[in-house]
Amino acid sequence: MKKFNHFLEWPVSVYLVMRQYLIRVIFATKQTILRMLNVVLFGPPGAGKGTQSEILLQRYGLVHLSTGDIFRYNIKNATELGQQAKAFMDKGELVPDSLTISMLESEVVKHQEPKGFIFDGFPRTSAQAEALDRFLNGRNTSITCMLALEVDEEELIKRLLNRASTSGRADDSDESIVRNRITVYNRETAPVASYYEVCGKYRGVKGVGTVEEITARLCAELDAFVQ
Ligand code: ADP
Repeated sequence: MKKFNHFLEWPVSVYLVMRQYLIRVIFATKQTILRMLNVVLFGPPGAGKGTQSEILLQRYGLVHLSTGDIFRYNIKNATELGQQAKAFMDKGELVPDSLTISMLESEVVKHQEPKGFIFDGFPRTSAQAEALDRFLNGRNTSITCMLALEVDEEELIKRLLNRASTSGRADDSDESIVRNRITVYNRETAPVASYYEVCGKYRGVKGVGTVEEITARLCAELDAFVQ
C-alpha cells in the first residue's frame, strides 16, 4: 500500500512544481506588460496626431516615435533610407512595409527601459500592425490601446493646406497630393482600426475642438490604463 502511495505522489509533486513555475512566468510577464504604456495614436493626415503626441509624451513620460518625422529626418540627411522613402512620400503614397517596419523596430530598440511609446503614424497597414504585435510580444510587452482621432474629410483638407505655410512640407502644399493621402488612408490605413477593435483596444476620440479639449479627451482614455 505504501509503495502504491509513493507511486502516486511523484506525479502530484511534478504537477505542483510545474504549476508554481507557470504561475511565476505568467505573473512576471503580466508585470512587464503592465509596466509599459504603449499607445497607437491613430487618425487620418491632419487629424492632429503630432500636436497631441507632443503633449501626451510629456504628461505620461513616453517616447514619441513618428514614422513621418523619422522619414523626413532621413530625407534631410540624405540617407539611403531617406532617398528610398522620398519617392513615395512626394506622391502621398505609403513607403513600403518592409522599409517602414525595419526602421520602426530599429528605433524602438534604441530606448533603454522606456515607460512606453506613442506610435504616431504607425501602424498604417494591417501588415505593420501584425509586425508590431509580434515585435512587442518578443520584447514581453504589447500595445495598450489605440486612440483614434476622428475628423471629417473637408476639415482635414482645410487643415493640411493651412499647415503647408508653416510646415514647409511639399506633401501639404499640393491639394491633389493631400487628397491622395486621404484616399490612401481610407483604403489602406483605416482598416487597421478594426485590428485593434477586435481585441478591445480601440478608443475613438472626437478630434475637433480646441487643442486642450482634444487633449482632455485623450487623457481621459489614457488615465483608465494608468494606475
Ligand atoms: P500625415 O499623418 O500628416 O500624413 P506623416 O508625417 O505621418 O503625416 O506621414 C507623411 C508620409 O510619410 C506619409 O504620407 C507616407 O508617405 C510616409 N509614412 C509615414 N508613416 C508611414 C508608415 N507607417 N507606413 C508607410 N508610410 C509612412
